[in-house]
Amino acid sequence: MVRPHPVDLEAYRRRVFSTIRRYRLVEMGDVIYVAVSGGKDSCAALALLKEYVEAFRVDAEIRAFHINLGFKTSAKVEEAVRALAERLGVPLHVVYAKDYLDIETAAKASGRPICSVCGAVKRYLMNKVPRELGATKVATGHHAHDLLAYYFKNLAGRNFQWNFKILPKVEGRGLLLTKIRPLIYARPEENEEFCRARGLPVSAVCCEYGLCNAAHAEVYEMIRAARRRDPDFDLKLIGGIVDFNLRYGRDEAEEIRRCKICGEPASGDVCAVCKLRMRLSARLNTTPL
Ligand code: AMP
Ligand code: ZN
Repeated sequence: MVRPHPVDLEAYRRRVFSTIRRYRLVEMGDVIYVAVSGGKDSCAALALLKEYVEAFRVDAEIRAFHINLGFKTSAKVEEAVRALAERLGVPLHVVYAKDYLDIETAAKASGRPICSVCGAVKRYLMNKVPRELGATKVATGHHAHDLLAYYFKNLAGRNFQWNFKILPKVEGRGLLLTKIRPLIYARPEENEEFCRARGLPVSAVCCEYGLCNAAHAEVYEMIRAARRRDPDFDLKLIGGIVDFNLRYGRDEAEEIRRCKICGEPASGDVCAVCKLRMRLSARLNTTPL
């Protein structure tokens, strides 16, 4: 397939490094845990953060953590993440979602789509696990098109307030870790090409469901169409959203509560994962095995 826009890996790498520098994503003394899914985006995030601290001799540690989701494909994905961490010489911590919640069973018991249950468990563990391991920040592989899809989805769903979270760095409060997104100004095809050029081990799929990004299709279509006229339209758009949020979005006094069951941050009395766990145990108690 001929790519409509050729990838310039040097420009990409410079852009990611300047994002890290400009928004102070890496600071002296940081212990940054990169949430690695096994896919190209978080793989690129891990490799580039590591390259950055080495290139500029920043006194910060880059570590990786992976959540084994407990699906059929998960053992293979975990293997790829282990190979990646070894290849980059980065310490890796693997956590098993099943130790907290069986995602597939919980999805059936709650009637919620599997990707929504999986998302809740990932968000929960991506904050709890690195924090308990002593992280100062957690990094993800979210790229510009992911965040544009999130933006338009929230707009269409009238969940405007969530769009204020579209930033390269979301400062933590209390038990919430600071989140960083070094690839906020990068495109998925650039991450892919970077991993390929470096020969990094990535898995083509991170789970067998593959529905997480299905909702992005419309926005990806819009981006493709707009880039035919202006190849940088996507980066201009995300840049505008970030600048808008930096200027107008600071007033987020949203109260963070603690789950009365597990003590993790929650928007209500009980966190999303404990709610799912409660549903699951209620179901198991009433359904004959
Ligand atoms: P997603 O929501 O699947 O698009 O993933 C967004 C980001 O979350 C990825 O770029 C990773 O940084 C992180 N992530 C997703 N799945 C996992 C996983 N199984 N383990 C660790 N981090 C993950
Ligand atoms: Zn809880």
